[in-house]
Amino acid sequence: MNPIIYAIPLFMLTIVLEFAWAWHRHGNRVRGVGGGTRRIYDFADAIGSMQIGILSRIAGAFPRLLTLGIYVLVFQQFAVASWDMSNPLSWLAALLLYDFFYYWKHRANHEVRIMWAGHITHHNSEYFNLSTALRQSSTTFVFDWMFYLPMAVLGVPPALFVAVALIDLLYQYWVHTELIGRLGWFDRIFVSPSNHRVHHGQDDYCIDRNYGGILIVWDRLFGTYADERDEPITYGVRTPLRSVNPLWGNWHHYVAIWHDLKAARGLSARLECLFAPPSGWSGHQPGDFEAATFQRHEVPVSRTTRHYVLAQHALNVVLVCLFLYAFKQWSAWQGALAGLWMVAALAAPAALMEGRRWGRWLEAARWACAPALVWALMAPARALGSAA
Ligand SMILES: [Zn+2]
Ligand SMILES: [Zn+2]
Repeated sequence: MNPIIYAIPLFMLTIVLEFAWAWHRHGNRVRGVGGGTRRIYDFADAIGSMQIGILSRIAGAFPRLLTLGIYVLVFQQFAVASWDMSNPLSWLAALLLYDFFYYWKHRANHEVRIMWAGHITHHNSEYFNLSTALRQSSTTFVFDWMFYLPMAVLGVPPALFVAVALIDLLYQYWVHTELIGRLGWFDRIFVSPSNHRVHHGQDDYCIDRNYGGILIVWDRLFGTYADERDEPITYGVRTPLRSVNPLWGNWHHYVAIWHDLKAARGLSARLECLFAPPSGWSGHQPGDFEAATFQRHEVPVSRTTRHYVLAQHALNVVLVCLFLYAFKQWSAWQGALAGLWMVAALAAPAALMEGRRWGRWLEAARWACAPALVWALMAPARALGSAA
């Protein structure tokens, strides 16, 4: 069974615990720029982040089978050695290798614009808490798998690869918090809340820094390390999202690239749009950033809408677990139908929070379609029943 199914309830529980800690110990506030304070958690942002996480699991379920299939194929055809999975040293070496290639993949995600368009989803929240960790892109799978193929050639068995990939991913969850300060020597060897806060900052000194997954040592080796400074960090990106819609959170930078491509003249300018760093070949960061005048995107949500959205979110958490459990038994069209319905289940609450009229229509339409969806998903069970 997909181990993420076990992790999802743990994610939800720890987010509730972090929120409770933030609220009771700190009044949900930390030190802000200029001696003021700012909120740690925001309702619309946290729900938006969690919905983005659910969307990434649904969108990634099918391509993940394909990309893992390619890894298996390369392993079977080109592996130069065979690793003993019963040896703990194999696990350690595989984890180290994975973390090394993760560093380069993550660096490319930030420094090649077409890849940044996918990874930006993880960074376009202006808050930094455990819910931010779940903001995983639904599109980075297009390029990410290529970076790990050397591990297949080196002979890391697919089962070991999957295991260390999961360890690396799960490790990175706890570092998304403002409630844990500096940890001394730990901050200089491992990825930690302090050095990962820097990674999510849009202050000048934070841009393109601290790419590590488990070890921050890679950044120190390859010149991308920055220590957290004493002033509060401003989280987010220089091309702000200004939305909590999980679909727009995944698409907005692709749309920006598309507009730039249409305006670009000549091959070199078009290649720059796609493959240069987000700031272009010149390397100058886009837009002036002034921490003192920066305004977070605020989405005021009424109490009634909050209650409704929270209930829908709780239901979506259960439904994504069911989806991940069942999708391998479904046919492609059943998976596509369930996936589409879930996309609507994620987009509609966000639209309701933003006060968009189409949110109500979408919400009504998806619930009207729910009985037909259940009927369609029961098809294999019906076939089995009639065969018996
Ligand atoms: Zn990043
Ligand atoms: Zn992060």
